[in-house]
Amino acid sequence: MKKALVTGISGQDGAYLSKLLLEKGYEVCGTSRDAQVSPLRNLDRVGTRKDVRLASVALNDFRSVLQVLFKVEPDEIYNLAGQSSVSLSFEQPVETQDSIYLGTLNLLEAIRFTGKAIKLYNASSSECFGDLGGQAATEETAFRPRSPYAVAKSAAFWQVANYREAYSIFACSGILFNHESPLRPERFVTQKIIRSACRIAQGKQKRLQLGNIEIQRDWGWAPEYVEAMYRMLQQDVPQDFVIATGQTRKLQDFVATAFAAVGLDWREHTTIDQALFRPTEIMIGRGDASKAAEKLGWKPKYKMAEVVQMMVQAAAEADG
Ligand code: NAP
Repeated sequence: MKKALVTGISGQDGAYLSKLLLEKGYEVCGTSRDAQVSPLRNLDRVGTRKDVRLASVALNDFRSVLQVLFKVEPDEIYNLAGQSSVSLSFEQPVETQDSIYLGTLNLLEAIRFTGKAIKLYNASSSECFGDLGGQAATEETAFRPRSPYAVAKSAAFWQVANYREAYSIFACSGILFNHESPLRPERFVTQKIIRSACRIAQGKQKRLQLGNIEIQRDWGWAPEYVEAMYRMLQQDVPQDFVIATGQTRKLQDFVATAFAAVGLDWREHTTIDQALFRPTEIMIGRGDASKAAEKLGWKPKYKMAEVVQMMVQAAAEADG
């Protein structure tokens, strides 16, 4: 039985990945900064809580990282932990850098220290590309990060690439574009839009305040994206992959689709609030996942419209 260690298992991707790996017959151990107090609601929602082992690990603490590697002896590590909000990274740049960059470096160092053939998946991000003016990003596209989050993810990406080359560690980064699900916290604008549309339709909320709705993004379905992570570690050679649906839409379209799904016209219920604009923004995010299609056989089934429908349905069910 293969053993997987999933850092940040309490998050959206961690929960879906735990389900996928258990279905594939893995023994799964997941980390949280404090597994004793973390509510781990996402594991309850996907039904994996009782089947995963849990460990408290602070990725920015090398001893803590090394200890869990000795204890679990994983074949594969999926590094999903870290401060994951672009907006929050402008408020907490040091915490963001620490949890993402130092966390990844500690994992790489710990793998090197054990001398074992442990494979590492690193959660990189399309935010690393910055604004490409509409050009589709591939694995060859240069990084021009535009937020503390993206700077940290870019540094972690290059650290992974360096350890792969320097020490022949099987380590790769998935450069994932946005992926959503009912497990997304409301801190993210997508879930804020979905939940607000549902509450407004039920008369429980008056209006929705939004920032820049002209931005364009590629939104996929999170359960499909964790399948790509798994496939990256099953390759003969470690490589980085862009993961995207290939369809870019305006945030305004996302809003319109969500409100239409609950029978409302978004223009009558939303207000633009300049305070919600970011100091620096990526106007267009576009990805080309041809390499993943060719080498991983990965092709997404769901695009923005279906993702919104599934999120609205889940939110409506949760609200009763
Ligand atoms: P998520 O729901 O925010 O989960 C990340 C987990 O990391 C949290 O559950 C939390 O676990 C831990 N964490 C949060 N803040 C931390 C901090 N300051 N220090 C250390 N750990 C912290 O994120 P996700 O959406 O599942 O994404 C998984 C990974 O993929 C993240 O690294 C994210 O940046 C990256 N990514 C996500 C997307 C996307 O669209 N979802 C796109 C590209 C890349 P505990 O509280 O239990 O410790």
